[in-house]
Amino acid sequence: MSADMVVVRKEGLYCVPGQFYIDPWRPVERAVITHAHGDHARGGHQHYLAATPGVNVMKSRLGPINITGLAYGEQVVHNGVTVSLHPAGHVLGSAQVRMEYRGEVWVVSGDYKVEPDRTCAPFEPVRCDTFITESTFGLPIYRWQPEQEIFDDVNAWWQSNAEQGRATVLLGYSFGKAQRLLSGLDSGIGPIICHGAVQTLNQVYRDEGVWLPPTVMVGDVPKSEIGKSIVLAPPSAAGSPWIKRFGDFSDGFASGWMQLRGARRRRGVDRGFALSDHADWPGLLEAIAATGAQRVIVTHGSIAVLVRWLQQQGLQASGFDTEYGDDEAEDSGPPLPAAGEAEHA
Ligand SMILES: [Zn+2]
Ligand SMILES: [Zn+2]
Repeated sequence: MSADMVVVRKEGLYCVPGQFYIDPWRPVERAVITHAHGDHARGGHQHYLAATPGVNVMKSRLGPINITGLAYGEQVVHNGVTVSLHPAGHVLGSAQVRMEYRGEVWVVSGDYKVEPDRTCAPFEPVRCDTFITESTFGLPIYRWQPEQEIFDDVNAWWQSNAEQGRATVLLGYSFGKAQRLLSGLDSGIGPIICHGAVQTLNQVYRDEGVWLPPTVMVGDVPKSEIGKSIVLAPPSAAGSPWIKRFGDFSDGFASGWMQLRGARRRRGVDRGFALSDHADWPGLLEAIAATGAQRVIVTHGSIAVLVRWLQQQGLQASGFDTEYGDDEAEDSGPPLPAAGEAEHA
């Protein structure tokens, strides 16, 4: 058997024959980046390669960087390794990295979800010999409702608050989650106010041709309209003076963790919406099966549970020790207690 094409080094996942890193957590010379969430796309690398639709997101989050865009499906050869990027369906510009060397194919998934949404290219199954997968929600209890049902719930809650003259505050990660929520809002109910962190990303999405409903900054809305509005803000804005200006509002939090009993109460919000940008348990299994891979390596999330399940199916499965975090919990700071609890559920 040939040597492993991808290994873990102290800097991050490393393609040995290609001599480049994938989503490294320490500064390196050459980094292929799966997507622009902070734990996968870090600053300080000398050269970045990412899927073209994600290049401007990366620039908006990391500032001036030396980055090359690669269209989905286009191939480049680096030190004899043929590299291509394929949609991961996670956020705008998210990609799986396919590497082919001497007839062997490895794929690194990055973060992914299999349910299509309107804000990014849908997940594309890629055949490979070895699949390196995430497992953020890798427990059988995680099964998402179709996103339209979640959007209907959000709009009904907003409508009912608006009828009572109360603002609606919806918290979610400012890159990806917020735009996906926006894509499902019924702008006929009232104004859609975005926190500056969200609005910055909205502009990048629109520039990439993603349709989002009209959004405004809080200063653009007359006081009389605030009670009909919905406010999209990152979780870090909770409790801030910026949020307090909306008065006696009703608040909600959108995250896959909201499927856990008690998560909404711990978060201290009125409503929890289990909308995730990651695959649920059936989604992970479906994606892994579609690769046809005989070997699977799990990078982050519920590693032990997924590895054991795959081994029981007769696959060669193991984990990688990585420094990837949880983009469903917070923009920054420690993960929700619910995350740790899930590990033991
Ligand atoms: Zn992510
Ligand atoms: Zn991740």
